[in-house]
Amino acid sequence: MGSMLSIDRPAFHFPCLIGGRPVSRDERILVRYPFTGEVIGSVPRLDEEAVLEALASASSGPPRLSRHERSEILLRAAAHIEAQAGAVARLITWESGLCLKDTAYEVRRAVDVLRFSAYEALRDDGQCLAFDISANGKPRRGYTLREPLRLVTAITPFNHPLNQVAHKVAPSVASGSSMVLKPSEKTPLSAIYLASVLYESGLPPGMLSVVTGDPAEIGRALVTHPAVELVSFTGGVEIGKRIAGLLGYRRAVLELGGNDPLIVLDDADLDEAVRLAAYGCYKNSGQRCTAVKRLIVSERVADELAGRLAAASAQIKVGDPLDPATDMGTVISEAAARQLEAAAEDTLARGARLLFGNERRGALYGPTVMDHVPRDAPSVQRETFGPHAPILRVRDIDEAIAVANGTSYGLSAGVCTNDMGRVHRLVRELRCGTVNVREVPGYRSELSPFGGIKDSGIGIKEGVVEAMKAMTNVKLYTVPWE
Ligand code: NAD
Repeated sequence: MGSMLSIDRPAFHFPCLIGGRPVSRDERILVRYPFTGEVIGSVPRLDEEAVLEALASASSGPPRLSRHERSEILLRAAAHIEAQAGAVARLITWESGLCLKDTAYEVRRAVDVLRFSAYEALRDDGQCLAFDISANGKPRRGYTLREPLRLVTAITPFNHPLNQVAHKVAPSVASGSSMVLKPSEKTPLSAIYLASVLYESGLPPGMLSVVTGDPAEIGRALVTHPAVELVSFTGGVEIGKRIAGLLGYRRAVLELGGNDPLIVLDDADLDEAVRLAAYGCYKNSGQRCTAVKRLIVSERVADELAGRLAAASAQIKVGDPLDPATDMGTVISEAAARQLEAAAEDTLARGARLLFGNERRGALYGPTVMDHVPRDAPSVQRETFGPHAPILRVRDIDEAIAVANGTSYGLSAGVCTNDMGRVHRLVRELRCGTVNVREVPGYRSELSPFGGIKDSGIGIKEGVVEAMKAMTNVKLYTVPWE
């Protein structure tokens, strides 16, 4: 692959990039701009045979690059993307309908991921161990080193088309592994663009391939090919569990859906709580695994919080995703917006009260605040992927914890209280992967460990450092030390 793909005009008809070569097909998957429904690009619809070939060619293992070389490639890619940040944000907006405020933020995050991975590539976490430490010991010393896996497959969702991909590809490059990536067929363009930038930045072709197609046709090969040592999957619980059933004797990172609460106790700073609720529920059109999907609020402050949140929701400018002033673009498709509308109707029919929203125009679906939501309503028991702000009222902290833990998910939680005793209790008793005090559940740095438990994941984390651990094997070697 000689040069970066052009991302200037919305005619993004990209090839797959297999072993550095552009591979095309007459059969295409069309990519539509959710705001208008127009076709703005397409990618090849590869069949299983083509994917098996890509896996076979990648399975000879990655070339050996020095830490310095891997780091430099990642830094160059970060600089390329930073220099083109506006165009990259527009590319993500075209394929996802997310507004430019969201996609510009996503580009900055992906640049962080590339840079942090570059720094981590330089860091040697090897251990040095003495072995003469008991009567059973011997005069030897041991050392550990991390060896890259030979072949990793990555499967990513639509909701952060660039950053989810960066979180898999950059740690793979940093650890020296070889990766075959299948991005979401809904948003495959920024993934292919990122790969082209990495090649342009000096990545040896054997270290990364991007394949696209119908997941029902090509998914199984990516998960079951005998050369695949790790499947790194981010997406919904249903597909994640289906993949878990196919893995066999193989390592997996499974970052699945969430149903994250923001718990607001009666001593909380309500200005802060309203700000966090609006940000947590609505950022990225509410389509984040760690979006606030339930507001669990002390009944003593619920009226006040509900009223203020409804007022704040009315300030959110929903509309044209390419207008820089827009706060919220579309969800991924009109079908997804219709599902959100139906979920709200169902919740209201179960006794909830609509305080704001539930308005749809095509794939635009605005902030929707519902109060007195019954805790067994399907829209709060299962993950609802959009800008819903359902308020569940609770008596006290005991009930807040029980409701928070009362679904099958366990990704993250945010808690609003100023009482340190309550903070300690919430951190101890919430069953999830992250607890953020006076912050949205989704807050993290790209370096910090990230991932859920229960249906949200099997406890193996992402974040650049943890992802690199998953993509490497620790080898111990010992030598005589007289
Ligand atoms: P999805 O599960 O529908 O799809 C995810 C990926 O799996 C896509 O690339 C899709 O093509 C692929 N896929 C579908 N069927 C497959 C099959 N049979 N075999 C192999 N691959 C297959 O998810 P989505 O709708 O794209 O994304 C939204 C979901 O992702 C939400 O549930 C969200 O919470 C979750 N998510 C989780 C995290 C996290 O880190 N925990 C982050 C972002 C999104």
